[in-house]
Amino acid sequence: MDPDQIERVATACRVLGKLDATHGAYGHVSVRAGDDSMLIKGKGKGQAGLRDTQASDIISVSFDVEQVDGDPDVRPPSESFLHAWIYRLRPDVESVVHMHPESALLLTIHDLPLRTIYGAYGQGGRMAAEGIPTYPNSLTVSDHDRGREFAEFFGDRRACLMRAHGVAVAGGSIEEAAVDTLVLKELTDITYKAYLLGGEPPELPEEERAAIAKPLDPDRPFGAAGGQAGVLANWTGYRQLAGEA
Ligand SMILES: [Zn+2]
Repeated sequence: MDPDQIERVATACRVLGKLDATHGAYGHVSVRAGDDSMLIKGKGKGQAGLRDTQASDIISVSFDVEQVDGDPDVRPPSESFLHAWIYRLRPDVESVVHMHPESALLLTIHDLPLRTIYGAYGQGGRMAAEGIPTYPNSLTVSDHDRGREFAEFFGDRRACLMRAHGVAVAGGSIEEAAVDTLVLKELTDITYKAYLLGGEPPELPEEERAAIAKPLDPDRPFGAAGGQAGVLANWTGYRQLAGEA
């Protein structure tokens, strides 16, 4: 197991836990670690809460969902199948995050969709403009059949909601998947509050939605960085907020 990957997965778990992207010991971050295995936050009798994740909580699990390496008191999460099947079907994905944000739970309980309701406020507008579907099954993704079905539903997207359950996010790096998870949480938090304030929130005009959907140019001369530099800058901000930098 690569110590650098272990430390980055553990850090992502702590930051997501401390910033309330989930509750208790629920949820996990993983990273692709070779042709047929991943490193993932483990569960079981030796498990830690997400916000207290240490390097020893990270184990190696094959895409057949068998533990390859790591603490024997920590075992593969039952939803390792969700991670393994996204890696199997999406060679471009290097990291997967599964969390249970409360606002995502509440919105999907009532079947209230995410819409592009804000623009320059934050990156959640772009995510909403791309479209965030809701996986309709509320049960744990805990076997190969359900893992494959979920990954096929997820398709080539970078995020989806899971009805009465949580969210799943896939990215090109641990940091990208973690940042997108927090961006999605901001979107679900604000959407939830907007529904509370006045019912179905109005979607932005089409012209604004089209502009918001465009990713930031990596070579832009002003403002926040685009591309991977922007991802890492945002990640630094979230780590600082969580006391992890
Ligand atoms: Zn779950």
